[in-house]
Amino acid sequence: MSRPQEVNDFITKLRPRAVCNKCIAQGLGWANDTAHPAQITGALATTSDFIQETGVCSICKDSKKVIRRA
Ligand SMILES: [Zn+2]
Repeated sequence: MSRPQEVNDFITKLRPRAVCNKCIAQGLGWANDTAHPAQITGALATTSDFIQETGVCSICKDSKKVIRRA
């Protein structure tokens, strides 16, 4: 599965909860130095299926940029 598809599935599974890039990378088991979830979530956010906003991550509870399934 491609990385964008993995991210898509991960966020969709969490719907309607929002999640941050760090938790996406950790949840998918990506090593920090090779993962670029921000690029992928940025691309997903350009579609009408996803909403990127500043909010509270449902996993780490930090207030930061998060993404959720519309
Ligand atoms: Zn998080």
